[in-house]
Amino acid sequence: MIRDLLTVVVAARDEAEALPLLHRRLSPVLDGLLAGGVEGRVLYVDDGSDDATWDVMRGLANGDRRVALLRLSRNFGKEAALTAGLDHVDAGAAVLLDADGQDPPELIPLLVEKWREGFDDVYGMREQRDGEGWLKRGTAHAFYRVIQRLSRTPIPTDTGDFRLLSPRALAALRQLRERHRFMKGLFGWIGFNRVAVPYRREPRLAGDSKFDLWKLWNFALEGITSFSTAPLRLATYVGLAAALAAFAYAVWIVAKALLYGDAVAGWPTMMTVILFLGGVQLVALGMIGEYLGRLYEESKQRPLYLVDDWRPAPAGVSSAVS
Ligand code: UDP
Ligand code: MG
Repeated sequence: MIRDLLTVVVAARDEAEALPLLHRRLSPVLDGLLAGGVEGRVLYVDDGSDDATWDVMRGLANGDRRVALLRLSRNFGKEAALTAGLDHVDAGAAVLLDADGQDPPELIPLLVEKWREGFDDVYGMREQRDGEGWLKRGTAHAFYRVIQRLSRTPIPTDTGDFRLLSPRALAALRQLRERHRFMKGLFGWIGFNRVAVPYRREPRLAGDSKFDLWKLWNFALEGITSFSTAPLRLATYVGLAAALAAFAYAVWIVAKALLYGDAVAGWPTMMTVILFLGGVQLVALGMIGEYLGRLYEESKQRPLYLVDDWRPAPAGVSSAVS
């Protein structure tokens, strides 16, 4: 009988406390999949943790033949860690799961069911976020709406990285090697058949969130600059509006000088205009700089991550066909 293979990819940074709890929940779910002809695996990615995460992972791998481990050479960030994980899934489908238990592993059979129905990208849609403050929920809500308006790539609202990707969606994703990886956008970009599965986002099992407001703000910038050039166009329009206003004002000044003569005055107006235009120019320059910086990073063609240690699951890929 030929079984389908499914690898659960978990990126973890400093999750020594949460990982064992997660694995205890994940393990029976994988057992349950077998009945449906799906062989479940786990790939834990250690994204340069400072705590005992790697030791914990090794312990889990020793006790479970389905567990593969990957360790990056330093902390590269969640997006790179997930990319590294997906790159090491050489067969079958993949599920992306947070290490902190906020994405319920118990939902995986439902994702698999949708995959069997022929969907390539089965993503979890957060219905409710427990244990997250109003500020985080509010800003996340606003962000999804802004990016949807700005970008032509479909990016579903309230959707994280929690999802199942079919083998062909995985292959497609692997072709996108950009350095600035806004994963939600990349998932949207590849297209194929997509379906949402609503779920409740639970509070963390243990530890603290690695994303504070400043990180989230940078994450939002990343998303917007990676998937939209609207800010550049905005700069053009603001410049155009300023130029038109300046022209009208100039006509008015000339007319006034011709009619009433030119008594030297207007220092306040002059300062206002200079400062305002100076500000607008700097903002526009900054926007161009954001894109230029990304272009620079991209042009260096560095690898997205470096691997320190790779330990495939002892269960082995070949056992998938039996
Ligand atoms: N994570 C990671 N590398 C990082 C930061 C976070 O692999 O540099 C992992 C983290 O261990 C967790 C997931 O990404 O499994 C989501 O992180 P977190 O729970 O801190 O984010 P939140 O759920 O608060 O958005
Ligand atoms: Mg979390």
